[in-house]
Amino acid sequence: MQFIDSHCHLDAFKNYDEVVSRALKSGVKAIITSGCSVNSKNKTIEIAQKYPSCVFPVIGVAPQEAMSMNSFDSELSFLRDNKLKVIGVGEVGLDFHWAKSPEEVSKQRECFELFLDYSISEKLPVVVHSRDAEKDVLDILMKKGAERVLLHCFSGQLSIAESAAEHGFLISIPPVPSRTREKVIKHIPLENLLLETDAPYLGKEPSDVDDSAQLVASIKELEVEEVSKATTKSCMALFNMRGLNGGD
Ligand SMILES: [Zn+2]
Repeated sequence: MQFIDSHCHLDAFKNYDEVVSRALKSGVKAIITSGCSVNSKNKTIEIAQKYPSCVFPVIGVAPQEAMSMNSFDSELSFLRDNKLKVIGVGEVGLDFHWAKSPEEVSKQRECFELFLDYSISEKLPVVVHSRDAEKDVLDILMKKGAERVLLHCFSGQLSIAESAAEHGFLISIPPVPSRTREKVIKHIPLENLLLETDAPYLGKEPSDVDDSAQLVASIKELEVEEVSKATTKSCMALFNMRGLNGGD
């Protein structure tokens, strides 16, 4: 059985070579790694270049980073310069758990909208982080007409997940159960769900992505095999990963 870890941060591992090889041995066939800070972007591209058949980068500025930055020009130019090396933009979004002042919120918003505009103009998928800000995030995505969207580590209410799914957005599930997440898994169609670890933050390593698959399978009362096939297919379609074989 094969899985795709649709979201993690390989740059945060010193021993990323071992992490990648453990993932491959445990049935992970692709890893999407996000470089979303000033310091992580170069290393993220470097790791992906080293594993062109199984590690794919997305680049952005996470909202927790954005709120203390003055300008996003150099981050956006980096993304432009590396356009052919990335498969998407992210993670970007809003995090009202960390942003306390109106200034911090408006910095997050400015950054999110800039990168979102870029992703739409380049027809790239966008990986969105939202925490305590799901409604605002969804409003911005709708207003901008975003179509290729992955809501990663979604922890908002079911009603918001439902309207996201109605718009064709995908929601990725980390290997950490919670009551709201269980509701989302239960009621959102399998076609709209992806698997992720957010390693090293939620899952320990990308090899833990099978725990996300088990979680989805047990709540939806499906075989893990079916979850593996459906999530792999949806992930490959969202990120246009045509080069990967066995996507069936
Ligand atoms: Zn992340």
